[in-house]
Amino acid sequence: MDLLLSTRCPQCGADISFDEESTVIHCEYCGCALHMTGRSGVIRTYVAPREDVQRMKKAIHGAMKEANAKGAPVSEKELFFAPYWRIKGMAFRWIFGRNVRGETVKELKTKQVDQTFPAYDGINLGLCSLGVRPGALKLLFFDPSEMSRLGSTIKVAVPFKEAVRYGTSLTEVGLDETDIRVHLERTRLIGERYSMIYFPFWMIKLAWGKEARILILDAVANKVTRILTQEQWEQMVAKAAERPATVSFSKVSFIPFKCPNCGWELPLNCFDIIHLCGTCHRAWMERAGRFRGVRFDAAAPPKGENQPLLYLPFWAFQAEIHSNGQALKTVADLHEFSLLFPTRVAQSADQRPIRFYVPAVSIRNIAAVNKLATGVTQNQPVFDQVPKGRLTECRLMGVFLPPKAATGMADILLCSMTPRNNGNRQHFVQHADMTISKMHLLWWPFYEQRLFLRDAICHSGIQKGAVCING
Ligand SMILES: [Zn+2]
Ligand SMILES: [Zn+2]
Repeated sequence: MDLLLSTRCPQCGADISFDEESTVIHCEYCGCALHMTGRSGVIRTYVAPREDVQRMKKAIHGAMKEANAKGAPVSEKELFFAPYWRIKGMAFRWIFGRNVRGETVKELKTKQVDQTFPAYDGINLGLCSLGVRPGALKLLFFDPSEMSRLGSTIKVAVPFKEAVRYGTSLTEVGLDETDIRVHLERTRLIGERYSMIYFPFWMIKLAWGKEARILILDAVANKVTRILTQEQWEQMVAKAAERPATVSFSKVSFIPFKCPNCGWELPLNCFDIIHLCGTCHRAWMERAGRFRGVRFDAAAPPKGENQPLLYLPFWAFQAEIHSNGQALKTVADLHEFSLLFPTRVAQSADQRPIRFYVPAVSIRNIAAVNKLATGVTQNQPVFDQVPKGRLTECRLMGVFLPPKAATGMADILLCSMTPRNNGNRQHFVQHADMTISKMHLLWWPFYEQRLFLRDAICHSGIQKGAVCING
């Protein structure tokens, strides 16, 4: 579920909305383009209440009936914002084992994770309609002065560490395996992002004899989600005051979307994290509020390749894998480990370090992207680079996946290259420790083949629909 972020244009003040995954925003009123900073940290947003008096009345009447408090007068009404952690990412799980029929199994399961859970202490207020609400829910950047005008804010009681622990436990839900005796399993959450959303609700107090009832009314859906006793509510308030957790939130701001080297505007691809200047041909990535240069290369297709090519970005890095006193360091080691090319003849490049290749495109189908990463990595290809002067002639596609997510993929990729029928290899992976170095951006040549993109060097294919490409 992608939500919309909404803010005022820092230049002209108009209200603008954009997809939450955007790195660059474009104001259609004044035409300015700006890059958002602080996105890699924990950002804070809130949802504004949507008052629908008719629905509210109906919801309150329904709740009164349910609480046997028909006709009770409303003695107090106050708006609150309750904090929720939100976690988004991609979950992978590799399983090696044996099924009930005794056959060996090697299986990759994947899912997109998008979960919200309370960051406050006490009773769950049931505002989790947050997670299933269909689009069009606008998130505004956290703004204490605007929010205090509307109501009070409940304090955060669940620290970041705890949120991560909970998020990790969520990763496994839905990826579990019941019919397999598992020998090796590896679960990872990749590209995870934590944020906090403050969600509005009304506390409505019904005076009913000695026992007051507190209605919790979702201030967006205008529905009653809980009916509490006065005591439960008071405990809730006391708990919230008791143990506030400090979380370091990142501050969102906007910087001009211009090349720091030559001053020209950068090409407007709103989801890219690397921006290639069309004028001076440098690549930029925002870190800690400013653009920094990124080293990049493009792999040259084999000589004689005449088809029109497009280049998909990959994060390429060296990997060294240690386990149980053994190590995989060279191309030869990796081939010996994967047993993929048993009749392969040794080559002079075999003593080179192992390199991993992870596609950095926007991913729609996780398993397909892993397959492409494996297709290139298991080959440990030898290739030339496109000369710097000729890079401008290449069709380079946008970069979406941050380098940290690519390192997260490395474990998954190692499992992909682990033989299904070899207990020793699986034991090696079970205790493997990977060192990653020399991460850099590499554009890789592909040609189009009907519904597929096929890489011009190793000939691995990927369905066009499995990735979103722009460039
Ligand atoms: Zn504007
Ligand atoms: Zn430039």
